[in-house]
Amino acid sequence: MTKSHSLFLSHPCFLEHGVLDHPENVERLKAILAAFEASHHRSLLNLSLDSPATVEEIARIHDPAYIEFIESLRGKASNLISETPLSPGSVKAAFLAAGYGVELVKRVLGGDIRNGFALVRPPGHHARPGKGMGFCVFNNIAIAARQALAMGIKRILIFDWDVHHGNGTQESFYEDERVLFIDIHQDNLFPVGSGFLSETGKGKGKGFTVNIPLPKGCRDRDYLYLFDRVVKPLTLQYQPELILVSAGFDAHESDPLGMMQVTTSGFEQLAIRVRALAEAVCQGKLLLFLEGGYDPFFLAKNVMACVNVLASEPLSLPVKEASSPESDGVEARVKEIYALR
Ligand SMILES: [Zn+2]
Repeated sequence: MTKSHSLFLSHPCFLEHGVLDHPENVERLKAILAAFEASHHRSLLNLSLDSPATVEEIARIHDPAYIEFIESLRGKASNLISETPLSPGSVKAAFLAAGYGVELVKRVLGGDIRNGFALVRPPGHHARPGKGMGFCVFNNIAIAARQALAMGIKRILIFDWDVHHGNGTQESFYEDERVLFIDIHQDNLFPVGSGFLSETGKGKGKGFTVNIPLPKGCRDRDYLYLFDRVVKPLTLQYQPELILVSAGFDAHESDPLGMMQVTTSGFEQLAIRVRALAEAVCQGKLLLFLEGGYDPFFLAKNVMACVNVLASEPLSLPVKEASSPESDGVEARVKEIYALR
């Protein structure tokens, strides 16, 4: 058997985080793991790697006082992080979730794998340097990006397709030209007051933050059109050496929190595009991070669609052209984005 180019990481300790009476609960990951076990990719899923992030790795993003505060909650139940109830197993899960990003970066840059997916809880993209929020404790994808920078990478694309704005990730790299951050999200959903078109970075980072806020109800064709007209050309221009994706699935039509109309086929097409882009610019170096997605059944379907894409041979992936958007306001968004550049 030939060695796979993909690695998927998850762990039973992620099922020890949080409370059931909350949208970001264990049923999400349970559904994903059950779908994985039933798939022909089950041998690519590693459920036993014990590689929590170190305090030093987390401190590349988060304030030491905040990390100490989280450490003080280990083994306890608390409601001290906004919107994010912690259970006795949460702190262990949070350190491991951050550690899996670091581990995947080491492996992809070391040439052991081409791509991977961190199937973790708690998610990360809302976590700010000094404060967890929005179901997130540590910013897993930002910590992973810092790991890549520490290993000598000069340009990284972080593409965030979660329905919410990745405010914590944006804040982490707002003045840093080494990270191009592109975020497609529902306009002013959560956090309210963040993710506006006019937020484009600051100082050396000016122009390296690209927000694409969308009206509710956007469909597959809108997302694919935006990918083809904004994400792809800006990425080709930037030539990242690594692509990281905040892969939330709460823009799905069934999601109870988002109000978008993306289907599983839409997420599959997004994954195909991002994979093809990674193959074109950075030898396929691509890592996905699980963020939101709150209908467990469809979350599992959407994740497995992306798993299939990552594990496939790139040439077998058909890209369907999105020549025009479907919803009002999408074409105008593209013009507005370029007018700001
Ligand atoms: Zn979300």
